[in-house]
Order: sequence, then structure tokens, then C-alpha cells
Amino acid sequence: MKRQTAILGAPGAGKGTQAQQVCAQLNLEHLSTGDLLRAAVAAGSSAGLQAKNFMDAGNLVPDEVVFGVLFERLGNESSRTAKSDGYMLDGFPRNRVQAEELDRRLSEAAPSSQAQTLDVVVDICVPDERIVARLTGRRICKGCGRNYHVEFVKPKQDGVCDDCGGELYQRSDDTESVVMERLSVYHEQTAPLEVYYKEQGILVTVDGDRAVETVTQAVLDALSGNNVAGLS
Ligand code: AMP
Repeated sequence: MKRQTAILGAPGAGKGTQAQQVCAQLNLEHLSTGDLLRAAVAAGSSAGLQAKNFMDAGNLVPDEVVFGVLFERLGNESSRTAKSDGYMLDGFPRNRVQAEELDRRLSEAAPSSQAQTLDVVVDICVPDERIVARLTGRRICKGCGRNYHVEFVKPKQDGVCDDCGGELYQRSDDTESVVMERLSVYHEQTAPLEVYYKEQGILVTVDGDRAVETVTQAVLDALSGNNVAGLS
């Protein structure tokens, strides 16, 4: 059975970092809609052109554009099945419409007529005040995507990735004003999904305000089927 999982949390909660670690350990495909959209913007594709202004302003990209880039990848079963043991969605769903559309497509793809949803949704929780410091200081490697921080996770050599020697850059939406907008969008539209997945009995909440390795272990525990919270 392929695992179908997702990681939720505010921007800067560590979703990307945790998804990278966990996917490498469990042989899951890491599907980040933010990465897919940034690639579309860099490629100058029509999806990228439609997404760019929303991303620069810290707003959500229209659902149809996101569905286009994500479901093209998710639907491409033949390239996936041989290689991975499933996937972890990172940054998707971001609102109720996206969550319902995902469930609809998973049900359609299920072998029987039974409704199907994700197996586990991991929710990484970090207080807002920590998020702003994390994101405005974040630097990312152009080569391998590894994350650093100007204070908390410095590379050995300024501006250069320890792993691949790539150049470090700051995402254009990691400036303070855009971070504040992204946080408010998160609280309004994405945080309510905690209730949606709790009602499905597949939500696991993980305290993300701890050392990276501690959080990774908690996420691995969550995916191994421990701690799944149903309706309480
Ligand atoms: P992220 O890398 O997940 O922080 O996403 C960066 C930006 O891409 C977000 O601020 C949104 O503008 C856009 N984005 C990523 N995922 C989605 C999504 N599921 N729905 C709408 N917009 C998204």
C-alpha cells in the first residue's frame, strides 16, 4: 500500500525541512506546491505567470492554478509507483476547497467505490512570534534546497551551502511585510483544516518548536500510526 500523507502548518513551521527528512527516510515523494509553483514561475510557464503576483504578495494562488500543477504530478502514476512508497504533500491543501477537491480525486482513484482520503495528516505547530524570526532569517541553497538561518543554522562559510557548495538566497516572500500577510492568510484559510482532518480521524499534532531532529522523530512516530487523533 502506497502511503498518502500531508504535512500542515504555518509558513516557517518547518514543513519543508521535515518533509525532506521524512521522505528521504521513508522513501516517499516530497510534493511541495510552493516548490512546484516556484519552478513554474522560474520556467515562465502559463501557470507560473498566473501565480507570480499572488506569491509575491503572500496571498494564495488561485485554486485552479494549484490544482493544475499538483494533479499533473499526482496523476503521473507511472513515473511514481516504481520509485516511491507513496508521497507527502507539503503546502497543500491550503483551504477547504482544496481539501475537498483532494478527497474527491482520491476517492475517484480508489480501487473500490469506497471514499478514500489521506492516511495521515501531520500538523506542525509553532507560535507566531517564532515564525517571523524563522522566516525573515531563512536562507536557502539554490543548488540542493537545504535551509539555513542567519542566526540559528549558519553555514560554515557565509552564503555557501555546506552540502553542495551552492549559493544561499533569501526567498522574495520571506521579507517581514510579506511574512505577516502569509501568516494572516494561514490563520484565516489553512488553520481551519485542522478541524476538517480531526473529524476524519487522521490528524496528528506535533510540537514544531523543538530541535529539528526531535521534530523529525515525532513526525516519523506520527506516520507509523501512533498518536492519530480522532474526534474527541
Ligand atoms: P510555500 O513554499 O508552501 O510557503 O508556498 C509559497 C507560496 O506559494 C504561498 O505563499 C502561496 O502564494 C503559494 N502556494 C503554495 N501552495 C499553495 C496552495 N496549496 N494554494 C495556494 N497557494 C499556494
